[in-house]
Amino acid sequence: MTQTVTLRWGASTDVGQVRKENQDAYITSPPVFAVADGMGGREQGAAAASIAIDSMRALVSQKHIEADDLQRCAAVAWQGIVELSLESESTPGTTLTAAVLTEDAGTPYWIILNIGDSRTYRFGSDGLVPITVDHSVVQEMVNAGTLTREEARIHPQSNLVTRAIVMEAQHPVDIWKIPVLPADRLLLCSDGLTAELPDIYISKLLARYDDPESAAGRLVQVAVDLGGRDNVTVVVVDATGVPTITERTVPIPVREQE
Ligand code: MG
Repeated sequence: MTQTVTLRWGASTDVGQVRKENQDAYITSPPVFAVADGMGGREQGAAAASIAIDSMRALVSQKHIEADDLQRCAAVAWQGIVELSLESESTPGTTLTAAVLTEDAGTPYWIILNIGDSRTYRFGSDGLVPITVDHSVVQEMVNAGTLTREEARIHPQSNLVTRAIVMEAQHPVDIWKIPVLPADRLLLCSDGLTAELPDIYISKLLARYDDPESAAGRLVQVAVDLGGRDNVTVVVVDATGVPTITERTVPIPVREQE
């Protein structure tokens, strides 16, 4: 028998204090939740982010969703970005992170997608646990052991991504499939949040606000108040109703490519 999952969610976005234009985009249309952070001048970054979000929108009305479907959405987004790039003087691109609720043999799962340095975290009894791994220069230094995560956060090169949805190459996306926990909270965000707020403070605010809309709004507000040097976007999704403790609480990579 399929377990019924109840979703509650909230989202907030802000241009920040420095940028002229908000080039982030998001979707909260169950079972699809996603954040994209566009790059490129003259409104092209915003257009790129919208293309990535629209590619995910195709899943909203789909009956059953598999990891391959998210892969296909990313490919559609890439084709859209190529077309956009051919029409623009700049070279627009975007990150994309997504969490899509699905089920497998009656068990609810999240399928998580990532390309770039927007992030999906899980917040629960283990605290704030990153699910996605950034495709960035500083993440490579963290992997090599030459930077800590906190040093990476404030590093001058912290905004350089190594993969994104860009015309120049069809970079692979990472995809994870993780069981939904009994009281599950996911956070999806653009780097405008994580650049301003260390994980420990994000964790505190997620613990303080039970209502996902309030949590998302407060996180964005604090990031803007702390400097708001970039666009800030936050999506918070709560899933309840799964009665049993599932066997795994750590992400299972189903497709991680070099
Ligand atoms: Mg950004």
